[in-house]
Amino acid sequence: MPQAELLPEVTKFIESPKMVIGGKSVDAVSRDMFDVIDPATGRVLCEVPRGGVADIDVAVGAARQAHEERRWAGLRPGKRTEVLYKLGELVKRNISELAQLESIDSGKPVSIASGEMWAVGEVFRYYSGWPTKVFGETTPTDDNMFVYSLREPIGVCGGIIPWNFPMIMAAWKVAPALAFGNTIVLKPAEQTPLTAIRLGELCLEAGVPEGVVNVVTGFGQEAGQALAQHPDVDKIAFTGSTEVGRKVLHASEGNLKRVTLELGGKSPNIVFSDANMKRATRGSMHGVFLNSGQVCTAGTRILVEKSVHDDFVSALLDATASMKLGNPLEEETQMGPVISQEQMERVTGYIEIGRSEGAEVAVGGERASELGDGYFVQPTVFTGVRNDMRIAQEEIFGPVAAVIEVADVDEAIAVANDTIYGLAAAVWTSDVSKAHKVARGIKAGTVWVNTAGNVDPSVSFGGYKQSGFGRELGRHSLETYTQTKSVWVNLR
Ligand code: ADP
Repeated sequence: MPQAELLPEVTKFIESPKMVIGGKSVDAVSRDMFDVIDPATGRVLCEVPRGGVADIDVAVGAARQAHEERRWAGLRPGKRTEVLYKLGELVKRNISELAQLESIDSGKPVSIASGEMWAVGEVFRYYSGWPTKVFGETTPTDDNMFVYSLREPIGVCGGIIPWNFPMIMAAWKVAPALAFGNTIVLKPAEQTPLTAIRLGELCLEAGVPEGVVNVVTGFGQEAGQALAQHPDVDKIAFTGSTEVGRKVLHASEGNLKRVTLELGGKSPNIVFSDANMKRATRGSMHGVFLNSGQVCTAGTRILVEKSVHDDFVSALLDATASMKLGNPLEEETQMGPVISQEQMERVTGYIEIGRSEGAEVAVGGERASELGDGYFVQPTVFTGVRNDMRIAQEEIFGPVAAVIEVADVDEAIAVANDTIYGLAAAVWTSDVSKAHKVARGIKAGTVWVNTAGNVDPSVSFGGYKQSGFGRELGRHSLETYTQTKSVWVNLR
């Protein structure tokens, strides 16, 4: 694969990326490092510090000190607004650099990464409006009493995030934590530590005081677990697999920290016979293959009404076959590699499972080895899938769609809900009543009608069932990043 030009600031940054703790760029206490791999080539990009228990301890200490000294919460709300707004502007000003960094670290096409960086700027811009809008209330009780509530930060937050949208996930944790006056220790995924480090640096540049945002790079079972277990962390916001979410929940028991979990999905994408087929085809395709299918809300179960099944499948296969797979640094690339060798093996393993379960590979089905040593997997569509097959029940987290035929609305809702997950769903129909009926019937935290994959900082996001609990974004994060205190004043 041709080596695309890296921007000078990217080349410079990857020479020696360090953790950000207490406002300083630091190595791990142990001095250990680990390799960061470029998924498009399989080659080592750079090394980053291998933070562990000791580093989490130092970072939590820095975050605690910043919190107790009220370095951030004690600032005038308008000042915090200004800093968060500036942070959003800084992200937007550095889109080219950040997008390229994200692209080489995660394998996502640079054009998509650019859009994501813009969205990250928007997350900070949205949350910059919140510090001035956090109110307590007064409550009538006894005439001799004056009772009011204070809405206060929770304290030291931990953010543990995955590798599929590294910078967006970092923003989803850091922005609300800051907006509501908390301090935070962020642990990016070991596969994609780079943009989180840059975000830590940009926070300082924007004027976030030292120790308020700390970034510890390291492995899940080392740094991640230490953060989830730490007795001085008041809240953990986790995004990742359901399996690891369970571990985080157990680890948080010790000091009963607040926990929000945004976990896996196996989202239904339902195409009814009265849908606009062109839009449904394009939307379903992007819904499942965006980011090489490594999206927790990916519409991996494509439920199609029997009467349009064959026509829809043939349009979907054409659209899928025309996707441009290739070097993520090239502007026209639509789909890059999956994140790692391990993930590639997992995805191709699931493709084998699908075959052995009796489903048919209608397009794709192989590693795209013509693209070199990178971890490329062809976009793959299975037809003839039954909802009880493993490829319809288990989260693959790769470019694999399972097409399931359904008879009518009732069967569509029943099949859509026949899963342990409940993160999202998409419905394609031109019948308004049907759209709302299905939206109401589906057990998921998000339902898209005649669209798929939309998120916005002002719209709450989260899961039903084993897709997690707690809601992120929008006004719901006021609840998850603050706590209330009732104050009773005796007037006698
Ligand atoms: P995926 O399955 O998508 O790779 P994971 O759920 O494994 O995602 O990882 C999401 C995040 O959780 C990563 O930052 C990872 O390092 C972290 N992690 C993994 N194992 C643990 C653990 N036992 N405790 C805390 N964090 C963990």
